[in-house]
Amino acid sequence: MKNEKPLFYTFKFALITIVSCILVLLLGLYFGNYLRTKNEKSKSVSLNDCGYTFVIDAGHGGEDAGAIASDGTLEKDLNLEIATLVACLLELNGNNVKMTRTEDTLLYDYYDDLEDYTGQKKVYDLKNRVKITEENENAIYVGIHMNKFSQSKYSGLQVYYSKNNENSINIANRIKSNTRLYLQTDNKREIKKADSSIYILNNIDCPAVLVECGFLSNENELSNLKNEDYRAKLSVTLFSALLQNEN
Ligand SMILES: [Zn+2]
Repeated sequence: MKNEKPLFYTFKFALITIVSCILVLLLGLYFGNYLRTKNEKSKSVSLNDCGYTFVIDAGHGGEDAGAIASDGTLEKDLNLEIATLVACLLELNGNNVKMTRTEDTLLYDYYDDLEDYTGQKKVYDLKNRVKITEENENAIYVGIHMNKFSQSKYSGLQVYYSKNNENSINIANRIKSNTRLYLQTDNKREIKKADSSIYILNNIDCPAVLVECGFLSNENELSNLKNEDYRAKLSVTLFSALLQNEN
């Protein structure tokens, strides 16, 4: 038994080395792909050259938790985590960025319109998110949300787009494509035109998409969304899609 130990450690060391190499290789492929896309983009006009401001909107907040998972995970918290990461990446890349909220709060009193918001909090919160977005010249709105359904079998990122601006569909398609490339290779979900039930997309004039990042009602997806590394990967996926320009 004594003689077996060094061999075991050698094997363990070799295994760790191989796993590390694979990880480095995967990371290289992942970011190599991103950089290639970025270089291609620089040959054309980048979004930032056109003076766009990305408005990153973490859905819900404060007394409105959004969807609540069976283990108590709150949609509003995951929304803010992902929105913050996407905003940071865009900012680091030199883009103009505006986050609608950076804290756990609703935005109904953002403009101090009323003395008493009783019964009107949700209406004013949504109205103000549209107003905050449209205060920015050449805004591109990106809403970050989580899905939930009564049946647990459903999973997968889903993008909705606003019919009010023709560029919305391009952004939505890029997010869909990058999701299939980098995040969920088996994602079959097609982009959907937002109907009147999605107030912000229905009432906004700039290019606008809403990303339902995943289903809190699906055990596997919930566990992914609670994982920091997965959220980072998801955020890079959204970020890379927002940077690409098809012109
Ligand atoms: Zn939501």
